[in-house]
Amino acid sequence: MRDEKIPQATAKRLPLYYRHLNILHNQGKTRISSRELSESIKIDSATIRKDFSYFGELGRKGYGYDIAHLIQFFRKLLDQDEIASVALIGVGNLGTALLHYNFMKKGNTQIEIAFDTNDDKVGQEIGDVPVYHINDLEQELKRKGIKIAILTVPARVSQEVTEQLVDCGVEGVLNFTPSRLSVPNHVRVHHIDLSIELQTLVYFLKHS
Ligand code: ATP
Repeated sequence: MRDEKIPQATAKRLPLYYRHLNILHNQGKTRISSRELSESIKIDSATIRKDFSYFGELGRKGYGYDIAHLIQFFRKLLDQDEIASVALIGVGNLGTALLHYNFMKKGNTQIEIAFDTNDDKVGQEIGDVPVYHINDLEQELKRKGIKIAILTVPARVSQEVTEQLVDCGVEGVLNFTPSRLSVPNHVRVHHIDLSIELQTLVYFLKHS
């Protein structure tokens, strides 16, 4: 099995499968058919079967999937045994909310450190996360070996801050700003634009 062969859409569903299988496991279920899994996860069974087929024989015809086995498989695949440390840049309204949100409870990621330019915020601990001045970015990221950053700064500084992050060795950015960021090829940006998501939802409600 080679990672680069897995389609992006499939890769994006893997954490969802992992989370859901854990829920089923905690409910005491040991085995599940692809139809049951499809109903509970709200993804059609053909898609699930196709996704799973990239990883070889995960289930057996007529038997379904062994939940513990799948969990073990996805845990390894998603590196769930290792905690991924993340930095957050921009402790405004959204940044603060994310610092309070306990990512560890739902996965294996943890915001370990935050940065801001505002002296009122620097030195504080928000949701148990210490806030440092952006001037300490390089020193702290390198010291902690952090390669993933959440970006919640104002749009006007987002490109500049991204360049600082890349210079400090960051390889993955979760961009909550509305800006489209330019980054070198080795850096991956995932964009979460909450206003666009809401507008799209409103559009579909009006037009369907
Ligand atoms: P607030 O009401 O706390 O200002 P907000 O989300 O409306 O929240 P924004 O103007 O979007 O505020 O800024 C978000 C945060 O980003 C602020 O805390 C701000 O101090 C911080 N910030 C601005 N410029 C930078 C920068 N260059 N590097 C790091 N943080 C920055």
